[in-house]
Amino acid sequence: MTDGPSSTRRSGGGLAAPGRIKEIASAANPIVKDIRALAQKRHRDETSLFLVEGLKLVLDGFDAGWELKTLVVSKAALQGGSEILTRAVSRAVGIGADVIEASAKVLEAIARRDNPQSAIGVFRRQLTPLGRLALQPGEVAVALDRVRDPGNLGTILRTADATGAKAVILVGDCVDPFSLETVRATMGSIFAVPVLRAKEAEFLAWRSCFTGQIVGTHMAGTVDFREPNYGKAATLLFMGNEQAGLSDEMAAACDTLVRIPQAGRADSLNLAVATGVMLFEARRGALTL
Ligand code: SAM
Repeated sequence: MTDGPSSTRRSGGGLAAPGRIKEIASAANPIVKDIRALAQKRHRDETSLFLVEGLKLVLDGFDAGWELKTLVVSKAALQGGSEILTRAVSRAVGIGADVIEASAKVLEAIARRDNPQSAIGVFRRQLTPLGRLALQPGEVAVALDRVRDPGNLGTILRTADATGAKAVILVGDCVDPFSLETVRATMGSIFAVPVLRAKEAEFLAWRSCFTGQIVGTHMAGTVDFREPNYGKAATLLFMGNEQAGLSDEMAAACDTLVRIPQAGRADSLNLAVATGVMLFEARRGALTL
């Protein structure tokens, strides 16, 4: 069956109605067009859906309990007997997700590149309200002032995950954490670290009730980044925009402004690198081999 009517297969045991399995060979199919449209932020905002490439990441999303709406898989890989892909299809159908058995052309069109992965998931996004963030003493979260680069944001989410940070707060006009590029760069950590978004005024209102310390990172900071006591209070590490750094208003909201000493000619560190340095220092006492 190609681009034909959908068929339903029963799966064992789940409470959800089983999803449908459909074969699609043409990139012009309207379902494929809708999925491709998720490359645009406007469409992601309208639908609250986003794309996840690769079977490993899709399985990460499954395991973390995120809602999978559609699973697109390579028909050739299924026919080639990929057991892991076949199991993923059964699992998707069992939880009520639709499955598309797709031609290489369809996968390439959705991923917008040659040699795409053999599985692409369409997940419902999750954002945590700022009011729900409750940091305990010794815990660490990251706030980003107007982060613009999807690769930086994805890398920061991955590093926050690796260091056990509790959340990443996006303050002001930030890049979309659910863009394809950001999700790719998270390598699955998008499912592990709560992401919160706040306008500047909301953040400042939340800040006035926050009892922990806010450690801002600033090129004009006069305190060495290793000086604050990260083990005692709850800590929010506040990182600045790639071009402009922390705005004056956000810098004024910090308890301390720290700097990472540098040698050589570079003006500053890349934002994601600086966040990694800060996170590993702040979490030093909590991380052991
Ligand atoms: N031109 C910008 C400025 O003067 O702030 C540089 C921004 S830098 C590329 C992006 C962010 O990374 C900074 O706002 C800060 O949060 C962090 N950062 C980079 N290098 C740093 C350093 N040596 N010490 C403290 N923070 C640093």
